[in-house]
Amino acid sequence: MFTELIDTLRCPNAHEDSWLVATSTRTQSRHIMEGRLGCPVCSATFEITDGEVLFASPGALRTTRVLDDEAAFRLAAQLHLVEAPQPILLTGSWSRAVAPLRTLVPNVTMFVGDATSIITLDERVSSLRLPVSGFPLATGALRGIALDAQHISDTFIAASARVLRTGGRLVAPASLTLHDTIWRTLAHDADVVVAERLPTSSAPIQLKRAPSAPLF
Ligand SMILES: [Zn+2]
Repeated sequence: MFTELIDTLRCPNAHEDSWLVATSTRTQSRHIMEGRLGCPVCSATFEITDGEVLFASPGALRTTRVLDDEAAFRLAAQLHLVEAPQPILLTGSWSRAVAPLRTLVPNVTMFVGDATSIITLDERVSSLRLPVSGFPLATGALRGIALDAQHISDTFIAASARVLRTGGRLVAPASLTLHDTIWRTLAHDADVVVAERLPTSSAPIQLKRAPSAPLF
């Protein structure tokens, strides 16, 4: 877990939006390889093991397969990875895009949720085991999300709408039907639907400050 991205994480439990406080027992560059994240609101803790934040139990076996360059280039275009500095989130089998995207779009930082491929973690790539409650990330924190077929529950779709900024891109399996008050569909082919997050009118979001000293 890259330390600078920890600000983007939020406690997945059902309470007000809360930052997580990190402690580490082993770091590599600015990546926490072994440590723990703690929630100052509900006191939940989440282990960081081999660089991956465990919001859920470690997953199944991983492969070394990667997307070919053409497929990765297509994904980069679908996620519109040109300018905005915000990170993206790749779920499940989209972890195969990490290696080629690293080369194709050198400025992009990535969260990888429930990776099914073996990926290299560094200052641009952080790995999360996702909780069933959705994405433990701040509202509007991401510019793009690629959902695989294992992550298209109503919970994950609602979480995608929350954590994407306005105009942020969603790439999801073509079978998915997206609500047209929240999403503008930009492209639809046999494999994927590409949509843009529409603006929402909602009550102002109250920002919380992280405590100055770690609680754990
Ligand atoms: Zn909490």
